[in-house]
Amino acid sequence: MSESVRLVEVNGLKKYFRVKESWGRVRYVHAVENVPLYIEEGETLGLVGESGCGKTTLGRTILRLHEPTEGHIFYRGNDITHTNMLPYRRKMQIIFQDPASSLNPRMTVSEIVGEPIDIHGLAKTKTDRKDRVARLLSLVGLNSEHANRYPHEFSGGQQQRIGIARALAVEPEFIVCDEPVSALDVSIQSQIVNMLEDMQKEFRLTYLFISHDISVVRHISRRIGVMYLGNLVELAGSYELYKNPLHPYTKSLLSAVPIPDPDATRSRKRVILNGEIPSPVDLPAGCRFSSLCPNAAEICKKAAPDMREITPGHQAACHLLS
Ligand code: SF4
Repeated sequence: MSESVRLVEVNGLKKYFRVKESWGRVRYVHAVENVPLYIEEGETLGLVGESGCGKTTLGRTILRLHEPTEGHIFYRGNDITHTNMLPYRRKMQIIFQDPASSLNPRMTVSEIVGEPIDIHGLAKTKTDRKDRVARLLSLVGLNSEHANRYPHEFSGGQQQRIGIARALAVEPEFIVCDEPVSALDVSIQSQIVNMLEDMQKEFRLTYLFISHDISVVRHISRRIGVMYLGNLVELAGSYELYKNPLHPYTKSLLSAVPIPDPDATRSRKRVILNGEIPSPVDLPAGCRFSSLCPNAAEICKKAAPDMREITPGHQAACHLLS
């Protein structure tokens, strides 16, 4: 069996955004706080959480599209937190949520997919470039007739295929898939997810797959991390997380997921959370989930829990778990 390689690793990663309030008062949105995680070569790590929980910011900070406030990012063991990213840009790509706004409407498909090939000087000749674009379009289920058309001439699913072809054009190793199917019809979502899985097998790609929809993430991920208000609160194997969620927030997320088995639906208890979600600029001193948590104890309001391994391979951040 080949030894697993940690392709991406982050330690204590923080990302704060400065916001200026009235009267010249400066405050910070704590978008990502002390996140520790790693992604092994060839695996998909799913990242879930509600809108605004910091998952997109985390993905972009790993790619250094946002500069980290604190902490470290490693790629193949090299600390890339403050390094020149040029040698890594080719290896680390992103697929965006909204294909329509991520594709330049004035460029043809051939220009969009060919642009990164030109930037990184990957084609030796014009014919080589043309062949590469044709090959990429065919990989994502489009054909060379589509090459001279513009993004608005395509459906949402086809536009996302163009976005995927653009990301693949530079032969990356790691791709942040930032809600890649959430803007698409449900009927198209599984086609795109299946295609991403096929690409992963063919090119040994590593994904950080971000979604607010835990059922989409489950399908594609080997492990899943759950985020709440900038914190990673639970991380486990995909099956283990579904079968045995530990953190109260994960339990509430999973209790809202429809399951096709009517008996299982009847026996499952929906976890309703009551309380207010704190503002990311004015966070409580202890556990960030304490205002909603049905189990909150005195210690939860005083100290923030760290991520700990509760059972082998299953981590959670909660004082009451042992
Ligand atoms: Fe709930 Fe306390 Fe655990 Fe936070 S640390 S999730 S408030 S029990």
